Amino acid sequence: MKDLLILGAGTSGTMMANHLRRELSKKEWNITIVDKEETHYYQPGFLFLPFDIYKSKQVKKSIDKFIPKGVNLIREKIDRIDKDTDQVFLQNGEAIPYNVLIIATGTDIAPEEIEGMKGPQWHKDIFDFYTFEGSKNLRDKLRVWEGGKLVVHICEMPIKCPVAPLEFAFLSDSYFINKGMRDKVDITFVTPMDGAFTKPVATKALNHLLSEKNIKIVSNFNIEKVDTENNKIVDYGGKEVEYDLLVTVPTNMGDAMIERSGFGDDLNFVPTDKNTLQSKVKDNIFAIGDATNLPASKAGSVAHFEAEILTENILRFVEGKELKASFDGHSNCFIETGHGKALLIDFNYNHEPVSGSFPFPGVGPMSLLKENHMNHLGKLAFRWVYWNMLIKGKHIPFVTSAMETAGKNLEEEKAVV
Ligand SMILES: Cc1cc2nc3c(=O)[nH]c(=O)nc-3n(C[C@H](O)[C@H](O)[C@H](O)COP(=O)(O)OP(=O)(O)OC[C@H]3O[C@@H](n4cnc5c(N)ncnc54)[C@H](O)[C@@H]3O)c2cc1C
Repeated sequence: MKDLLILGAGTSGTMMANHLRRELSKKEWNITIVDKEETHYYQPGFLFLPFDIYKSKQVKKSIDKFIPKGVNLIREKIDRIDKDTDQVFLQNGEAIPYNVLIIATGTDIAPEEIEGMKGPQWHKDIFDFYTFEGSKNLRDKLRVWEGGKLVVHICEMPIKCPVAPLEFAFLSDSYFINKGMRDKVDITFVTPMDGAFTKPVATKALNHLLSEKNIKIVSNFNIEKVDTENNKIVDYGGKEVEYDLLVTVPTNMGDAMIERSGFGDDLNFVPTDKNTLQSKVKDNIFAIGDATNLPASKAGSVAHFEAEILTENILRFVEGKELKASFDGHSNCFIETGHGKALLIDFNYNHEPVSGSFPFPGVGPMSLLKENHMNHLGKLAFRWVYWNMLIKGKHIPFVTSAMETAGKNLEEEKAVV
């Protein structure tokens, strides 16, 4: 018997366990998956919890519910990978040998990276919404908050779901309008980027939406510290932004076990071939999802496209065939804009998000880079798709792992430089 070992049973690891148990012979391959948690969180739901749109129980289920029969689940913290002996050491000292390894340990927030952030104000006046705990505590705060300066902030890129902070700002606008207190809340979006998003065409559209909703934007803000005595964030150039309530996306980092294993970049992301998903660490090590250093968005939709390609490449690898360099960086993301509307963006390594229709050219029914109610319904439906199709490794109809160019107004890319 040979051993395939998957590290992390979040979105990517669970998808890979489901795909590969179907594809690899049970007589030849043991499959093991390791995770320290008992709960699988639907992280996109962390955006909705603070606004009382979702309840806690809608965003979490037991991890083992989604691990298929024939896959051995180990609940333990991973200590490190020993790539030279093809073994993984767990925190309890156990060593697990492997023939093929898949790293799917994701990324987590590291608020301790910024001076003053994780001090006495943490989860009192300074919140994250990238963890279940942070999102729930923020919900409790928003329920009783009487208004003031709300600052929605990104520490540094890359972060998972790079549009989530923008969505938070948009949803705050509609939340406070619905509560009849928008005039008591001053919303500012503070980002290290030079606009609302990473790509120019979408940035133009999203900057426009921010101003329409009376949300100020402070760009090119590279945070140095949080001055908790004076309630302000300070950047390296001396710029300052005051807050009463700071909702921040702290630095996102890969797990420390990557560092302990002796590889990974400055933020502990795994060097990975952007087209084949084979790691640059060793041939029998592959990486997927947020744990990689790929120049693609860190998103569940991206992990879903990667999982289809990685499954094929693992099968090719174990059969001694050449890998296919077919991952194009495809990303597909709804952007909730409040008041029952959302935008949709669809892009890859070569093409940025532009307007158009999706998934059927000219027909839609979803529209790209334009707010509508259908997109919002799509965003809400994503939770059902996630629990029932995506993490079970089922094919999602009409959505292909390679990005379709049909139906997209690609000439817009040339218009905005
Ligand atoms: C607020 C928010 C909104 C989002 N919205 C969207 C959206 O609308 N659309 C979208 O597509 N994506 C969205 N995402 C992103 C999406 O949730 C992630 O990109 C996706 O979950 C990544 O999957 P992953 O498997 O790579 O990592 P994860 O799902 O985070 O899984 C990593 C797993 O590894 C485990 N692990 C890590 N280190 C260790 C260790 N040392 N030992 C044992 N186990 C370990 C963790 O416990 C975890 O279970 C959002 C994320 C957030 C936070």
